[in-house]
Amino acid sequence: MFIELIDMLRCTRPHEDSWLVATFHEMRERDVVQGLLSCPVCTARYPITGGVAYFDELSSAGDNEADATMDDGTRIAAYLNLVEPGVVVLGGTWAGAAASVSGMGSTVIALNSPREPDGCSSHVRSSDVLPMARETVDGIALDSGAPGLLESAAHALKAGARLVAPAAASVPTGLLKLAHDGRWWVAARRGGGASGPVQIARGQRHKSSDG
Ligand SMILES: [Zn+2]
Repeated sequence: MFIELIDMLRCTRPHEDSWLVATFHEMRERDVVQGLLSCPVCTARYPITGGVAYFDELSSAGDNEADATMDDGTRIAAYLNLVEPGVVVLGGTWAGAAASVSGMGSTVIALNSPREPDGCSSHVRSSDVLPMARETVDGIALDSGAPGLLESAAHALKAGARLVAPAAASVPTGLLKLAHDGRWWVAARRGGGASGPVQIARGQRHKSSDG
């Protein structure tokens, strides 16, 4: 967990917005390896273990296999219109593109990655809510359609920034759907300036994972 990103993390419980108090037990350069994040509002505590910030109790990591077709930073950069480096959240199997996207200069936060993502110093586990401050993120790709996750992702986006989510998921309020194919949609948070064209490859034969 990159230390400068900790200011952007928020408690996942429904209450007023507050930063988290961080206690560091082990640092590696500017990454927190072991530590604790505490919420001053509700006293929730979130451990940082092995560099990963845990915001919920996941049964186990690695229960869904990484999708090799997602290891494509160019594709996600196009979806998210990453013309300039920024802060990007790559959820689930999208985290496979972390090294590629960070190679383009962006700071990547992996969310619920099924395996330890390469080239990504910040890894967060939180399945229901994205624990990020409002309007701080330049692009988010999710492979989960959990409504709370989508809604909090919409709030975390800067104006004009984009969200990629599964085609079956509802587009959260405040976002404008720009494009979709059989598997994904791309939407932008309203209030931004003109955004560039979106290209989603058509005709890809993927099976939808949710029934
Ligand atoms: Zn709290």
